[in-house]
Amino acid sequence: MTAGLLDLVSAAGRPPPAPPAAVPRFARLGLPYAQPAPTTPLPAPRRLWGNDALAAELGLCGAADAPAGWWPSEAATAVLAGNRPWPGYAALATVYAGHQFGRYTASLGDGRAHLIAELDTPTGPRALQLKGAGPTPYARGGDGRTVLRSALRELLGSEAMHALGIPSTRALSLVASPLRVQRDAGETTAVLCRVAPSFLRFGHFEYFARHPDAARPGRLAALADWVIAQHFPQHLGHADRHARWLAEVAQRSATLVAMWQTVGFCHGVMNTDNCAILGLTLDYGPFGFMDRFRAHHVCNHSDHDGRYAYTAQPAVSRWNLAQLLRACATLPGCEAAQAEALLQAHDETYRRVVMRRWAAKLGLGEVQDGDAALLNRWLTLLQRSRCDFTDSFRALSDLPHQALRQRFAEPPAFDAWAADWQARLARQGEPAGAVQARQRAANPRYVLRNHLAQAAIAAAEAGDPGELHRLAALLRRPFDEQPGAAAYAAPPPADAAGIDVSCAS
Ligand code: AMP
Ligand code: MG
Repeated sequence: MTAGLLDLVSAAGRPPPAPPAAVPRFARLGLPYAQPAPTTPLPAPRRLWGNDALAAELGLCGAADAPAGWWPSEAATAVLAGNRPWPGYAALATVYAGHQFGRYTASLGDGRAHLIAELDTPTGPRALQLKGAGPTPYARGGDGRTVLRSALRELLGSEAMHALGIPSTRALSLVASPLRVQRDAGETTAVLCRVAPSFLRFGHFEYFARHPDAARPGRLAALADWVIAQHFPQHLGHADRHARWLAEVAQRSATLVAMWQTVGFCHGVMNTDNCAILGLTLDYGPFGFMDRFRAHHVCNHSDHDGRYAYTAQPAVSRWNLAQLLRACATLPGCEAAQAEALLQAHDETYRRVVMRRWAAKLGLGEVQDGDAALLNRWLTLLQRSRCDFTDSFRALSDLPHQALRQRFAEPPAFDAWAADWQARLARQGEPAGAVQARQRAANPRYVLRNHLAQAAIAAAEAGDPGELHRLAALLRRPFDEQPGAAAYAAPPPADAAGIDVSCAS
């Protein structure tokens, strides 16, 4: 018997559990879209957190009654740290470009992200990507690492968004290491495994449309046809499939930003290389859920001009879509006139979805004339009185409003607004219970506030992942009142209200 075969048989005579077979799909595109990129081993890896529910969806756990699956195991941790390859899959990195703060950068790519497996699951294809497993050919001198702080924020942020019903990349695992890298200060590192149907960005299409070495005839169309075949198969076989695909991207992008606005989420770095072609929230850097409501809130302290302020996000989404459409203008049926129509469609979808969601937050089943004005009066009250966004919306569903009205600088102004709001609700003619249920399904009790993430980070950096586990479990049910968790719903204490979040990650 050869040594190789011996490796495959455990002491009990059974083969050791293996993960599901990888199915190379993007990998088959090969160069110039992707390059082989082996991961760099992570010293002293320690599994801090794993997402059992997602692992089950991906088929990593085997049958429920299986004695021991691949997940969780030392072997799985080694793969998810980047210390062993996924069996049968050679890790790779993809190339993209992008508009960063409005300026075009011709060569970016997965500098510290490795595609380590592609799986077929009952709910479609899934790509597994390690973030922070060492430099790739696109690292441009970077160290290829991610600090624990940033990986943990991405984990919590992406899972919180998913639980809110907002399309997002997911987090499968977090493996920490004592390895230190220099950012603003020296920090320890971690490897995050994230999961999405695809990690393709607007910037991938910009690269193959504009890069002097890459923009050869047919390459952009080949990438577009690949994404349509894999992820938009409903448009296959149509002569105008590219236009249909881009129309769907426009619609998904507008829907996504509408969802962000209504939970007070600021992305922080809405560059086109951070925009997913599938309309997912992607690349969680200096993002934040607003605490007190400010229309011009800027969550990234490096964004000096407020380009990506909360209130600017819908217009930036349109601008980013315009860059994608410009890149795709050589595809049949996607010329400039079509682009203009798709940009208008983006705006119409945004207005429709955002207003429907705002209305639901106010307990309204449908949008009527005057509702936008009612909403604006409420948001103005919140801003003037420096009120907390999430908590104030949620408090509207807690009757009576005695405690809520005291939060306003001028309680009578709240009373006047509330009277008009109640009159509008009364015209709807629904029982109070139905209105309250609608509000509670639209207004989360818990979001990932910066100070909560910070507490989980501080504990994890000190070696204790308990708070990370508690917070991740809490955020899995953001709309449900959870006993003993009042502190997690409360606005930040005064000394934690202005936590700075930078791009350094
Ligand atoms: P980000 O600001 O994280 O969206 O990254 C912008 C670009 O810089 C992407 O191409 C990243 O892959 C790359 N990048 C960011 N940080 C690093 C790092 N530590 N090492 C290598 N590449 C990086
Ligand atoms: Mg990025």
